[in-house]
Order: sequence, then C-alpha cells, then structure tokens
Amino acid sequence: MIVVRRVVCPGSFDPVTNGHLDIISRASRLYDEVVVMVSINLAKKSLFTVEERLDLIREVTRDYGNVKVDAFRGLTVDYCRQHDIPAIVRGLRAVTDYDYELQIAQMNHRMSEVETLFMATNPLYAFLSSSLIKEVVQWGGDVTGLVPQLVHDRLIERLKDA
Ligand code: ADP
Repeated sequence: MIVVRRVVCPGSFDPVTNGHLDIISRASRLYDEVVVMVSINLAKKSLFTVEERLDLIREVTRDYGNVKVDAFRGLTVDYCRQHDIPAIVRGLRAVTDYDYELQIAQMNHRMSEVETLFMATNPLYAFLSSSLIKEVVQWGGDVTGLVPQLVHDRLIERLKDA
C-alpha cells in the first residue's frame, strides 16, 4: 500500500509573505503533499479577498510540484478529518507566538487525533507578519525581499489610494 504523507499549512495569508513561503517550501521537502489552507474568517477584515489570496499563493508556489491551495471556513481539524490529513504545520517566529500556538495545538489535539508540528522560522523572516508588511507599504516603506514580487505589485496597487 502506498501511503501519501500530507500536511496542512493553515493561515490567513493576507497576503502571503516570504516567511510563509519559507515554511511552505521546507514542508514541501519533508512531505509528499502540502495543502496551504486559507482560513475564511468573515469577522476578520482583510485586504485581499479569499480568491485573491488563493491566486497569489497558487502563483508563488507554482514551482513546487506538491503544494496545493484550498480555502476553508471552519475548524482546521475538521478540514484535516474531511481530507484525511494527519498533521498541521505552523511556523514559530518567537516566544510571542508560543503561548497562543500551544493553546491552539492542545485544543486541536483534544478535539481530534490531528498533530501539530512547529517549524522554527528562518531568522531572516522572524520579524515578519502580513499586517506589518501592509502597514509599511501603506506608508511608502520598502519591503523588497520580504514578499514575492507579484505580492509586492498587488500591495502597491491595492494600497496606493488607501
Ligand atoms: P494566522 O492568522 O492563522 O496566524 P498567518 O497568515 O499570520 O495566519 O500565518 C500562517 C502561518 O504562517 C502560521 O503558522 C504562522 O506562524 C506562519 N508565519 C507567519 N509569518 C511567518 C514568518 N514571518 N515566518 C515564518 N512563518 C510565519
């Protein structure tokens, strides 16, 4: 029997950054398939629509043959159960991420058999978040090297009149 090892990388990805991509590409080297799952959170104000976020991720992960993109509204563990995915990969940037991530991982484990695997982020991107990127771009700051060029262009386009 062939066992396909799959993981999910869930998040808002509003928009995807090089920090996200670093985790996704490293996970793609460890697993047969990585599903990048955009969580649909209607209560959270986002700059890009879910479709736009999916398209951006699809474009910038095009070269990795084993990365899939999907959107889901609900609990990540339910997505995992529905698609038979045994583990979630999350990036840990600093101790500030730790408390929250641990709570979610423990709650997820209580609700299901789904495991959470933490990957230490690349120190080059440890300070990086989508919200910080948006704020810097909004005020004309330079984020070259922190997001893919396509994301950079879309951010400028979207934020120029903001
Ligand atoms: P969420 O709103 O669920 O935290 P994000 O889009 O902010 O969604 O993050 C999705 C995933 O990417 C999380 O596992 C997060 O820890 C990871 N991540 C976010 N920013 C970075 C970064 N700069 N470097 C590495 N991983 C990151």
